[in-house]
Amino acid sequence: MERQPSLVPFNTKESYVKEMQGLSLKNVNVSIFRKNKKIYEDFGEMLFTHFGVSGPLILSASSRIGGKDETAELHMEIDLKPALSEEQLDKRVLRDFDENKNRQFKNSLQKLMPAKMVPVIVELSGIHPDKKVNEITKDERSALVRCIKEIPLTLTGRRDYNEAIITRGGVSVKDVNPSTMESKKTEGLYFAGEVLDVDALTGGFNLQIAWSTGYLAGANSAQNKK
Ligand SMILES: Cc1cc2nc3c(=O)[nH]c(=O)nc-3n(C[C@H](O)[C@H](O)[C@H](O)COP(=O)(O)OP(=O)(O)OC[C@H]3O[C@@H](n4cnc5c(N)ncnc54)[C@H](O)[C@@H]3O)c2cc1C
Repeated sequence: MERQPSLVPFNTKESYVKEMQGLSLKNVNVSIFRKNKKIYEDFGEMLFTHFGVSGPLILSASSRIGGKDETAELHMEIDLKPALSEEQLDKRVLRDFDENKNRQFKNSLQKLMPAKMVPVIVELSGIHPDKKVNEITKDERSALVRCIKEIPLTLTGRRDYNEAIITRGGVSVKDVNPSTMESKKTEGLYFAGEVLDVDALTGGFNLQIAWSTGYLAGANSAQNKK
């Protein structure tokens, strides 16, 4: 099977990720779309980098998205407040606006999101950063709420082997005896770990694959030599 990098970060088209480089988001919801079809959704942790996005949610997405989608431009949305509906978030924003009535918009979001994110969301919302909070209209507030629940990004491709946690593809398990890890095609040849076409999500499963198949291959090849 053809070998490919997997559990790997993505590049993004939007350069605003650079402004948030190093920022790790917890308890967010990430959705990825091909055209309008949702092809991945999960909840957890992610990270912004100088080139795009990484972290557990993104690495898992890379191993779930295959076929034509691997090279396609994909639309991604981050829901920063997945526990709140748009209505609930709107009430929360209103409360914060109430406390910051006479401040400029750009100085009113600190309680809602990490500081590095504020300039990006302000820009995406389309509301002038210097606008007084008490002058913001209901429509502008709705746009802000949508922005927080659907931070848009365009995934333009995966990073390469140098940044991959694992490889996908390799020697087909159909060609290997699972009790001994010996090749079914060549006697005395044993396989273990990454070289096999076995891969899993993050969480220790890949190390377990390497250890278990390595133990079997080692023990059986030694036995075979006797
Ligand atoms: C940054 C990072 C973090 C990871 N975190 C996790 C994790 O948290 N949980 C998890 O389950 N998995 C994790 N993995 C994946 C996991 O480490 C691998 O799946 C696992 O190590 C594969 O084991 P392996 O023995 O098959 O290959 P490797 O660990 O790559 O070992 C292959 C060895 O062969 C040596 N070698 C290569 N060519 C030759 C040659 N020609 N002659 C002699 N020696 C050679 C290499 O130097 C290397 O020591 C992570 C991987 C990376 C890169």
